[in-house]
Amino acid sequence: MSSVAVETSGATRPSLVGLTRAELGKALATIGVPDREIRMRVNQLWHWIYFQGVTEFDRMTNVAKALRATLAEHYSLSRPEVIVEQISNDGTRKWLIRLPPTSATDKGAEIECVYIPERDRGTLCVSSQVGCTLTCTFCHTGTQKLVRNLTSQEIVQQLVVARDRIGDFPGMTPPTDGMLPSGEGVRAVSNIVFMGMGEPLYNFDNVREAIGVLSDGEGLSLSKRRITVSTSGVVPQIPTLGDEAGTMLAISLHAVRDELRNTLVPLNKKYPIDELLDACRNYPGLSNARRITFEYVMLKGVNDSPADARELVRLLKGIPAKINLIPFNPWPGTQYECSDWDVIERFSDIVFNAGYASPVRTPRGRDILAACGQLKSETEKVRARARLMMEAEAEAESDHA
Ligand code: SAH
Ligand code: SF4
Repeated sequence: MSSVAVETSGATRPSLVGLTRAELGKALATIGVPDREIRMRVNQLWHWIYFQGVTEFDRMTNVAKALRATLAEHYSLSRPEVIVEQISNDGTRKWLIRLPPTSATDKGAEIECVYIPERDRGTLCVSSQVGCTLTCTFCHTGTQKLVRNLTSQEIVQQLVVARDRIGDFPGMTPPTDGMLPSGEGVRAVSNIVFMGMGEPLYNFDNVREAIGVLSDGEGLSLSKRRITVSTSGVVPQIPTLGDEAGTMLAISLHAVRDELRNTLVPLNKKYPIDELLDACRNYPGLSNARRITFEYVMLKGVNDSPADARELVRLLKGIPAKINLIPFNPWPGTQYECSDWDVIERFSDIVFNAGYASPVRTPRGRDILAACGQLKSETEKVRARARLMMEAEAEAESDHA
């Protein structure tokens, strides 16, 4: 594992990176670009920002020099700061990102973003909020107060930062550690999951706008079938997600009885299991080729019995589904433990024998705590350590001077 505290510049002009077409249009109108030119200019900017990943207006060779200068005077192409980058032995990368302040009193929130390379895909796990208002008892994020919703720009910027870091824009050199996906035609970031901090369906408008930018074929160009939004079960927003965003859906189920789910995922008291599964059955675009993923965290002695597995299979009957068994990631102070391996296997066998592929999600990036539900707080310690190391180095240097 390696951990680096990263130096970055603090640009103060607003960044155009992460904006939607409509927002870019407004930004251009503000600096006096005439109405009749806006569409064409937006298309040009779109290509340079999202397809080429440029960081300087001067690289935009088909934009008139004078306009490039005006753009540079008012705006930037800066990305949010990566404060810490950690690279796991297995190639998993985690970035602690500081967002620019949104107001005079805002110190700038911090979010995390994790990149998981596999042979045939590269998955980026993005956050949708700073913290979370929900209080799932097994989730570390749930113990933190919500600071705020992320803007759609901040959501999109997570992918741009990731592609910068893994050298995945034209003309960049990818890292040579051999840990990026290697299949023919496989993109370094081929999939996005909204499984970082926050409940994406409680920040739906921004998530929808961000998905529009991420999936735009002229730019970042991720297929909507490769974007998955994970929800703890905000039932009224599920059909809206299907209709307006058209992505894949993942449900954090974790329990098969309301009584237990009420404690694990308290939102269940508002939207119980049968209502949640009804919304799933009616999810727009659902088919055997577009299945819903049901996430099930394995908690020792809580939800991991063979009877639970059989009930899970019974409940999901008729819904085109994938079942993802997640080994619980413990965090300091949690009351839960991860189920024993043989118990997970027994559970997985029952699910498998009922006709579901039931991959147990292999823990990745354990050495850098890049696991779900551990985001942010642990990194704060790492960051403190990184700072101490830097201070120690600086001191050593000044001693030598
Ligand atoms: N709020 C959304 C998305 C973020 S959580 C949701 O709940 O679906 C992403 C996934 O990580 C969810 O399935 C969540 O239940 C799971 N998760 C949270 N804490 C975890 C932990 N400590 N161990 C394993 N999985 C966890
Ligand atoms: Fe929020 Fe999801 Fe964690 Fe629940 S599991 S507290 S909804 S981030």
